[in-house]
Amino acid sequence: IPVSPFDLVIFGGTGDLAQRKILPGLFRRFVAGQIPTESRIIGAARADMDDAGYRDLIRAAIEEHAGKHSADKDAVEDFLRHLSYVPVDAMGEGGWKELQELLVDDEERVRAFYFSVGPNLFGPLAEQLRSHGLAQRESRIVVEKPFGHDLETARALNEELAQHFYEDQIYRIDHYLGKETVQNLMAVRFGNMLFEPLWNAQYIDHIQITVAETVGVGGRGSYYDNSGAMRDMVQNHLMQLLCLIAMEPPARFEADAVRDEKLKVIRALDPVDPDQIVRGQYTSDGTCASYREDAENPASKTESYIALKCFISNWRWANTPFYLRTGKRLSGRASEIAIVFKETPHSIFGIDSGRHRNVLSIRLQPNEGMTLGVTIKEPGPGGMRLVDVPLDMTFADALGEQAEDVTDAYERLIMDVIRGNQTLFMRGDEVEAAWAWTDPLIEGWERRGDNPKPYDAGSAGPDDAAFLINRDGRRWRSIK
Ligand code: NAD
Repeated sequence: IPVSPFDLVIFGGTGDLAQRKILPGLFRRFVAGQIPTESRIIGAARADMDDAGYRDLIRAAIEEHAGKHSADKDAVEDFLRHLSYVPVDAMGEGGWKELQELLVDDEERVRAFYFSVGPNLFGPLAEQLRSHGLAQRESRIVVEKPFGHDLETARALNEELAQHFYEDQIYRIDHYLGKETVQNLMAVRFGNMLFEPLWNAQYIDHIQITVAETVGVGGRGSYYDNSGAMRDMVQNHLMQLLCLIAMEPPARFEADAVRDEKLKVIRALDPVDPDQIVRGQYTSDGTCASYREDAENPASKTESYIALKCFISNWRWANTPFYLRTGKRLSGRASEIAIVFKETPHSIFGIDSGRHRNVLSIRLQPNEGMTLGVTIKEPGPGGMRLVDVPLDMTFADALGEQAEDVTDAYERLIMDVIRGNQTLFMRGDEVEAAWAWTDPLIEGWERRGDNPKPYDAGSAGPDDAAFLINRDGRRWRSIK
């Protein structure tokens, strides 16, 4: 879909996220012909540098992070010509006038302001944009995570932003929603007759959502120690995935229709019993530091791993467990949603063949894709022996080139901002509802003074997490 020329200001334009994701993503969209030539991309951050210095910085970032397209040197230079830079102080007066002068003076033109800075600057930036007259009706702001630390702070931030911008101008980003396969999940659910009739407690045994990482908290240790896996991953990313799986079909694929349905899911989530939550903390395996060393906090009780079982109290999902887990320094890097269907009620092929379960697996990384496990006859003359085989639902062969060049989540979401499409962004009330669900769980373990269970770096997490699901007669899917 073509877009009109726009001005995009990236606050924090010299930071890690801007260099690794935002600008390489914009470059790829430029190569795809989606950035009209009259558009401007303006880096705004604390560092003192000029346009040439900024272009040098971003040239290097593109070479490192933009994949195969960065080999086209002419394209890189053409793209860099769209860039300029202003040193701006989010907390002070410096740079705002210069920024104003760079923006095209046109009420109708889309201005997007990406807040790729620490969360303490989200409110001040919104205020500065308004007080310096940079925000117009066609302006929008993109707010990074974390959105609040708990319900109270999220509410305060929502209120602060609402003093300067309407809700339809605020784009709270959760890059999980920008992933190709997450959208494919919706296409599969709502574009086929095959799945939706089975998409409920009657046919689905349980659902697993896993986000496993092999890295530790590394350089972010002190920030992370104040947050933990529940705040850093579950409240936002895992919760958003859960909503897309569990929501009722919206009437239209439009921002508020989708977000209304997601909100209903969060509000229908039951509180979780403490014995259905397992928190863990990695210990050193000799080759890497332990969590407590990384966090520089020898007495830390923050979890680098969490697994929990929760239920959605509504007609569709009554008594269907959703098992969620996420952690760092695990044995594999894998993000997966697995929809595990019930066993066939009866096997006509005799005891030996067993009873089978279909599993729809949606992999977000690595190797984004979707497979449906189906049971077929084992080929050959050995009689009616059954085997489970994965049916590839990403159809890389059928889609060829298109499937190969999968758009990165950030570039897709940034273009949605420019187009004014909020469908894949979180609304303020959704974020608050998610905190309202997580807060009591966190308060519970803090009040009890629970210690997270130690687990070896490079393992599958604490043993108790395996028991959490095994005692229900189920098992976690492999994260290798
Ligand atoms: P970073 O520390 O690398 O960069 C911070 C940027 O903010 C720099 O450009 C700096 O100049 C600018 N800045 C700091 N203080 C400023 C001020 N007073 N005025 C103007 N500019 C100022 O941070 P990052 O890793 O790029 O993260 C940015 C945001 O994105 C954070 O909210 C973070 O939580 C979020 N985020 C980052 C990642 C990631 O992979 N890096 C992933 C998800 C979310």
